[in-house]
Amino acid sequence: MDVTAPPVAPAGEPDAYCLTSTEVAARLGVDPATGLSEQETAERAAAHGPNRLAEPARRPEWLKFLDQFRNWLIGILLIAAVVAGAIGDIKDAVVITVVLQINAVLGYLQERRAERSLEALRRMLVPTTRVRRDGAERVVEAHTLVPGDVVLLEAGDRVPADGRLVVAESVEVAEAALTGESQPVAKTTAAPADTASLPLAERTGMLFMNTAVTRGRAEIIVTATGMRTELGAIAEELRTGTEPPSPLQVQLDSLGRRLAMLSGVAVVAYALVALVRGEALADIALRAVALAVAAIPEGLPAVLALTLALGVYRMARHGAIVKRLASVESLGSATVVCSDKTGTLTLNEMTVRALWTGGRLYDVTGQGYDTKGAVRGAEGHPDRLLDAVLPFAVCNDAHVTDDGFVGDPTEAALVVLAAKAGMDADGLRAELPRTGELPFDAATKYMATFHAEPDGRTRVHVKGAVDVLLDLCTEVLTEDGVRDLDDRHRKEILDITSSLGGSGLRVLGAATALVDGPPEPAALPGLTLVSVAGIADPPRPQARDAMALCRSAGVAVKMITGDHAATAAAIAHELDITGEVVTGAELDRMTPDELAERIDGIGVFARVAPEHKVTIVRALSDRGHIVAMTGDGVNDAPALRAAHIGVAMGRAGTDVAKEAADLVLTDDDFSTIVRAVREGRAIYDNIVKFVRFQLATNVGAILTLLGASLAGLPAPLTAAQLLWINIIMDGPPAMALAVDPARDDVMRHPPRDPQERILDARRLLSIGRAGAVMAVGTVVLLALARPRVGADTAATMAFTTFVLFQLFNSLNARAEDGPLLGRHQLRNRTLWLCLAGVLAVQAVAVHLPWARSVFGTEPLNAAQWALCLGTASTVLLVELVVRAARGRTTRRTE
Ligand code: ATP
Repeated sequence: MDVTAPPVAPAGEPDAYCLTSTEVAARLGVDPATGLSEQETAERAAAHGPNRLAEPARRPEWLKFLDQFRNWLIGILLIAAVVAGAIGDIKDAVVITVVLQINAVLGYLQERRAERSLEALRRMLVPTTRVRRDGAERVVEAHTLVPGDVVLLEAGDRVPADGRLVVAESVEVAEAALTGESQPVAKTTAAPADTASLPLAERTGMLFMNTAVTRGRAEIIVTATGMRTELGAIAEELRTGTEPPSPLQVQLDSLGRRLAMLSGVAVVAYALVALVRGEALADIALRAVALAVAAIPEGLPAVLALTLALGVYRMARHGAIVKRLASVESLGSATVVCSDKTGTLTLNEMTVRALWTGGRLYDVTGQGYDTKGAVRGAEGHPDRLLDAVLPFAVCNDAHVTDDGFVGDPTEAALVVLAAKAGMDADGLRAELPRTGELPFDAATKYMATFHAEPDGRTRVHVKGAVDVLLDLCTEVLTEDGVRDLDDRHRKEILDITSSLGGSGLRVLGAATALVDGPPEPAALPGLTLVSVAGIADPPRPQARDAMALCRSAGVAVKMITGDHAATAAAIAHELDITGEVVTGAELDRMTPDELAERIDGIGVFARVAPEHKVTIVRALSDRGHIVAMTGDGVNDAPALRAAHIGVAMGRAGTDVAKEAADLVLTDDDFSTIVRAVREGRAIYDNIVKFVRFQLATNVGAILTLLGASLAGLPAPLTAAQLLWINIIMDGPPAMALAVDPARDDVMRHPPRDPQERILDARRLLSIGRAGAVMAVGTVVLLALARPRVGADTAATMAFTTFVLFQLFNSLNARAEDGPLLGRHQLRNRTLWLCLAGVLAVQAVAVHLPWARSVFGTEPLNAAQWALCLGTASTVLLVELVVRAARGRTTRRTE
């Protein structure tokens, strides 16, 4: 960043917060109505640099490489190398050291790849902001902002730079990040009366970078960007914390420790037996080294990190950006998805289909946001239409053009309705400028605008949920003009609302009032209800299939919506969401116990306010559910945080919701959540596969060494050979297992128990079994071969058999539950390539002279190879027998 750029407030001149917005505009050379020109923006960008906070210095790559050796497991192995060297086993010492280098390189490369994937992921969440430039509104990346830019903000937006307010409608901002004040503070455009040095918290005419608009609508002129903002001034104090390890990482870490401890015990036990037997100390030391090497699963952490990173990267490419790695695990065990209706389960393509006014219901023709169409049957009554539709057109911020629309889809549909009724919404808004407004809020469910009349009075236009509006109305527009709103009218309107809702339409009412004097936004006057519109928003075509997938996967789906119960029920029916329909008001009347009891039977929560979502998440969590909850508004943030997996909408979502979420959907589509659940399950499955695979090798190695020792045989595997197997031979197949394609039936079984430990008794047993078979096979072969082919060839056969055991065991590890053999075993081509590679490398180790001198091997003939292969295949055969005995082989098919 260019630190010589001119400061925004020249030395000696007052800070922006001491000036009126007009003075700030003049100082920064911008007209708030049109904004800067692109050329001006480019020039200022060159002078001021990007609107970014300086990033903390990166850790140099060579240090990251050295970090690989900071692992305590590696420390033990290095000690092993030193011990081997000290007792004169130079070859082993060299091989251990070389293999450890290779391990470090592999670990470093894996980590770098993981880091790159996560960085690419972060780049997908570049913050954007709405600006006015060259007289037009556009969305730009926040780092392109320059002083003088006019930024448009609404509830839920993160403030992208410091700026002076030029428009502030009911604005409240959460400034906790900057001032520590936890309550949102109200902001206005007025310049402070006292311009002495004010603390940040009292600069009510200013918005500051990285604070969040929690209410209202604002426009600011940017006064400072990047490191010159108030946040930039304290940026040095901000530390972006590193992500804490996920529960799985913690589990595997403690597993590594336990295995190392186990090897400690094994070493001591072995040493005692050997000492009693009177073996040479050097031999004992060599075996102790080999045992330590055998027990340590040094490759696991890197494979785990890479699997998670690649998994989340793959998810991101399919529209689900995971913000915390740990949430991948929760995703895999999700039992309930609570989804917003509008935009997530439906397309958010709004079309007004029906208009009720003056006691009559009219059909509205046309499709989507195309303004072609008409209010059928009302063509002869333009005045009636004008009265009915005017509040919809004026109390509205959307703009519809030939290529689409800008703004809220519901509002855009109402602009289209106005066009079909012969009105130009933009033109009307220009004719009737606003003197004030109450922006739409999901909690109040209405929006109001205030307009000065020539005679000094104020016109109020309101649109919102009909039941809410009815409580604000005292009159209604009938065929015979405006009448008092009596119970008969009320019933008629509520019936119309239910019937429109019953056919899946979203229902909005319009009301108006004329009041004496200037507006009093705090209290709306008695309103006149003028019309009711029914808006179609078709369900997403993929949502039904996704719903069926959830059912087969044992994941319940609950719809949560601010819409009317009838609308919600109709859409739920179309989507096959089953269960009771409960409204927010009913929810308020339930005790927590009652809700907990009923919640599993509820499928739809209608007319809820965002706070209800927290109640719902709590009730579900209390029942032991793992809850994914969607949200988009600023008020949804607490529920997104309370849920196990908070899901924010990438398009329609506010910055605040996205920040609170664990998962951001780039396409806002419900089926993407389901795909993410599937991916989460597949990732977990794969982690289980490679953990089982690698641990079986460790257990097999320990048992082989101990078994040989108990049988009075020489160590069948040297420390170098073991490390070679652990890292070079096992690494690639483990990685291949980590990227195994998801099983076809991954969504055909119920969610995993979140309390389940990755290594439960059943898995430990199968790891122990595989390890035992490897040990018995290797030791028996060694014992039988020694008298026949000599000690050296027999040792080579034992080494080769142990390596081949791993090949067969990778197939075991791949199919934990399904049938062991079958076409599905061919699906992971990478794994077969790795297995072929391992076989080739083993052939090299056994047959090429230089490799033979490193590993101390002898060449094997075809019959010996066949014997090794046959022995190694027993690990698969035993598993087949065990499964057949359990009669499980056919229960689940791929
Ligand atoms: P979701 O299903 O995503 O929770 P929703 O669209 O069902 O969202 P809200 O957007 O909170 O819920 O809308 C609730 C009610 O508020 C709607 O039924 C409608 O009557 C009213 N409403 C929606 N948008 C507006 C708006 N822009 N202006 C005024 N009223 C609105």
